[in-house]
Amino acid sequence: MVEAVRAVRAVRAVRAKEHMTEEVDMQPTTSRIPVLCYHSIGNEERDGTLHWSVAPAMFDEQMALLVARGRTPLTVSDYAATLQNRSSLPPRPVLVTFDDGFDDLATAALPILRKHGIAATAFLISSRIGTPKRGHGDPMLDWDQVAELRTAGMEIGSHSHTHRALDTLTRADAMDEIRRSKEAIEDQVQQPVASFAYPYGYHSATVRRQVIEAGYTSACAVKNALSHPADDAFAIARILIDRTMGVDTIDGIIDGRDWPTAWSGERLRTRGWRAYRRVRGVVRSAERPSAEADHHAVSS
Ligand SMILES: [Zn+2]
Repeated sequence: MVEAVRAVRAVRAVRAKEHMTEEVDMQPTTSRIPVLCYHSIGNEERDGTLHWSVAPAMFDEQMALLVARGRTPLTVSDYAATLQNRSSLPPRPVLVTFDDGFDDLATAALPILRKHGIAATAFLISSRIGTPKRGHGDPMLDWDQVAELRTAGMEIGSHSHTHRALDTLTRADAMDEIRRSKEAIEDQVQQPVASFAYPYGYHSATVRRQVIEAGYTSACAVKNALSHPADDAFAIARILIDRTMGVDTIDGIIDGRDWPTAWSGERLRTRGWRAYRRVRGVVRSAERPSAEADHHAVSS
């Protein structure tokens, strides 16, 4: 008898959970905001993998889909202003962002973004801009191309100076990465750099505070979840887009089906993983002077 009562309670609990999920899914589209995170648009390997390069034809289809679905593209700073109640959210917003600053952002992505009239945000690793291609290294944007992106209306943000995982560095080193990249990019583009993207998406409360202290007004993380109007303007949830994602997957992301919404409080599991990874990162840094060897083991 007791068993039966327990079973009924268990079923009720499951049903209650399902009901909650249904309610989340039925929220209007303005409460679930897709922030797409791309790296490269091309058919060349980047950082030793094609996984993070989206074929230009696919990218073209994906951008056409955003337009067909009536989405309003926002830059990260425009979106952050709505999160901070400095402006209101337009209907059906979407954000397109690019990390790292590969040269195909100017040669392949920009013509497609222009064709569809889509505003986007580029996060640059300042020490790599204008550096010549070395061996099997990846070609990066040069400053003339960055100027071209800016003239086309793209927001130019910072992705740190050398792309090290900031939450594993000393406070002084992390601050240097955050400040130096802002100054270097501002010197070149002659415009304030207002938004930051954490390398690999990794951040801590300290790193987040440092980004604010350095004068940025927003920052992007990677949570593989949809953003929402109560999202943290200094840890905006983004979804990593890879080469295997077809137009149907993108459609699923932008209408929110099958994708979770990021909540302000991080899931404990994610936090536990971060703590573990920080310890591991510190150990590795002690073993090897260059943390760059880890570059894009996890992307972004
Ligand atoms: Zn990156």
